Amino acid sequence: MDSPSPIAGSKYRGRLAPSPTGYLHLGHARTFWVAQSRARAHGGELILRNDDLDSTRFKMEFVDAMLEDLRWFGFAWSEGPDVGGRFAPYNQSERMSFYRAALEKLRAGGFIYPCTCSRKDIQAAITAPHPENDEEPIYPGTCRENRKSEIANRKFSWRFRVPDGETISFADGNFGEQKLVAGRDFGDFVVWRHDDVPAYQLSCAVDDAAMQITEVVRGADLLVSTARQILLFRALGLTPPKFFHCDLMRDERGERLAKRHDALSLRTLRARGLSAENLRVGW
Ligand SMILES: [Zn+2]
Repeated sequence: MDSPSPIAGSKYRGRLAPSPTGYLHLGHARTFWVAQSRARAHGGELILRNDDLDSTRFKMEFVDAMLEDLRWFGFAWSEGPDVGGRFAPYNQSERMSFYRAALEKLRAGGFIYPCTCSRKDIQAAITAPHPENDEEPIYPGTCRENRKSEIANRKFSWRFRVPDGETISFADGNFGEQKLVAGRDFGDFVVWRHDDVPAYQLSCAVDDAAMQITEVVRGADLLVSTARQILLFRALGLTPPKFFHCDLMRDERGERLAKRHDALSLRTLRARGLSAENLRVGW
């Protein structure tokens, strides 16, 4: 696959990467606002990538709404699905060849193995305590030694084998030095789902590298995923970007804002007559 030549002088390149599985809410907008502010402060570029791989949950109407809501809020991007750019396409659903090439590289390098476990199998086999700061249980390693015969005629996902006991460290632009231990803070993770869709970890790392993103700004809920992705960058022979994780916005009960908080969707707030400027007061 052809990749564009490097951008001269390693100019700052940031990205907004929303997933069109619902309407954008204030929590997304705040993280994106940090991303846009950092790109502007560095005199850099901001790109928009449409993370639309999860076709079971995403709807076309959300893509149009996403673009409209972002513009209304005051976001501007120089590359994206609606405006094009030298790293096009910017819809992940049109970038399958990139992900397949990465999968093949991981497979050839022996970094991944086929896993036939269902969510239920994993729950049943878990003995280790659930890690505190992550939503995903540590995979118990059931399929690590799977051979071809064991996966014949069965659905399987591709799972990345983490280097147990190795400390993955990175300097977060907001939270400072981070250290996560593979096998303890997170386990072997899926890079390709059994329904033949690349997992978030893989598509995100592949695109951030391909689009020459220099800093990834995203929510603190993805700190552990950053450690996973650093392992993927290394296995693929790619240089990871810098990372800046933002505090998550919480509602009045201290719960994380999620898409179910419809009252705080940008659509609803706008319909109630609020202006984007007012919503940003105090940021
Ligand atoms: Zn398995």
